[in-house]
Amino acid sequence: MATTPIRGGSGALAHVESVHALHPDVPLEAVVKEDLLRRGVWFTPEALAAHRDYAAKSYFIFSFDRRPLAEMQGEERDRAPEEISLSGGPFGFKRVIVSVRLDPESPWKVELVDDRVTLVCEGTSVAEVGFAPRPPYYGMKTADGTPVVEVAPTIEWGYLLYLTVFRLCQYFGRDEECRFCDINENFRQQRALGRPYYPVKPVERVLDALRLAVGAGASAKAYTLTGGSITTELDGLDEASFYVRYAEAIEAEFPGRWIGKMVVQALPIESVKRIRAAGIRIYHPNYEVWDADKFRLICPGKERYVGRDTWIRRILDSVDVFGVGKVIPNFVGGVEMSKPHGFAHVKDALASAEEGLDFMMARGVIPRFTTWCPEPLSELGADNPPAPLEYHVGLLSVYRRTLEKHGLAAPPGYGEPGLGNAVFSVSAFMDVLDASRGTVPLDA
Ligand code: SF4
Repeated sequence: MATTPIRGGSGALAHVESVHALHPDVPLEAVVKEDLLRRGVWFTPEALAAHRDYAAKSYFIFSFDRRPLAEMQGEERDRAPEEISLSGGPFGFKRVIVSVRLDPESPWKVELVDDRVTLVCEGTSVAEVGFAPRPPYYGMKTADGTPVVEVAPTIEWGYLLYLTVFRLCQYFGRDEECRFCDINENFRQQRALGRPYYPVKPVERVLDALRLAVGAGASAKAYTLTGGSITTELDGLDEASFYVRYAEAIEAEFPGRWIGKMVVQALPIESVKRIRAAGIRIYHPNYEVWDADKFRLICPGKERYVGRDTWIRRILDSVDVFGVGKVIPNFVGGVEMSKPHGFAHVKDALASAEEGLDFMMARGVIPRFTTWCPEPLSELGADNPPAPLEYHVGLLSVYRRTLEKHGLAAPPGYGEPGLGNAVFSVSAFMDVLDASRGTVPLDA
């Protein structure tokens, strides 16, 4: 991999180079990946036409775009791939997998250069680009006529079936929705374009989609059951009961076939035990932002319905049920720098994130993070630029250092760690971990 300057000057690549110089322990591939995730990327029609069989962006839960769909036009919007791989090229990249977040104005473009699909930044070729492989069951429909990709898309380069069984969140409006989140607005924009996009997936439809995936030979190793929070009832069920019924049905028909993961609120311990008893192996009670004051301001629904102190206590309590390393709450890397509530300085934001990681990892919890992409239909995304690249790259260093300090391996349920192996696409945390330290065993 090249360590010499990329091109100098004041553009986006020069900025990548200068941030990489501050963190030489972070591979250049990971720095570029974080910049793509925070800024977005755009495709030329020629580049899209050069690949045939690939998985198009499924909008598996949020928009993860830097522009509303209505402001982007044409096949570049409708045919963009779910993920891209970056490899080779003038800097000899080892492979990294990057989730696609669209922005026609991004300095990052995927173009045809000398007949090769290439990542280009302001005129400079950076890496060769592959598109996410098309799972063998895509194009099929469930028995009730629903496109299977709406029910059970695959992300992470074929590793993860993503089952958003409730596409809305009952945290509703400005005083409840997490302020970085566009789940409800994304639902509206998908429907406005006439796309098949349904609020609740019947259990039988999910099972049918999984049957199609299995029958076609899909290679996924894990599934995630997820969706919005349920503050009252849905289908006459509270949150735990609503989501547990999917896990029970999947595990009854496909016992132990995949690593089952579930994203729900931080629930009381009796509910957590029910989730584990249903066959779920990994629990994601996402805390989103560590700092106590910012949690209350940025996640007002979580504060209102559960409260930050209770949220944290329930995360810790759930280790007794799931085991060390199998409670994996997400936080949204970068949102703690958003205006008007966020930190003004990178070092303060990193210190807060490190405090949270240290607190959790000392207690057997291994958080993970996604890279914040300000989605314009979310409250914070409407007025904020992305967080500084210095923050995102600094966070990769902080994460790896804190994990090693506590003698922990990579969290399970994400595939292999390490550059060239990792498939987790929405942040580079798995790319920067030491592959030789392995993964926390699922059965320990
Ligand atoms: S809990 Fe927050 S992040 Fe999750 S879907 Fe609801 S509003 Fe979005």
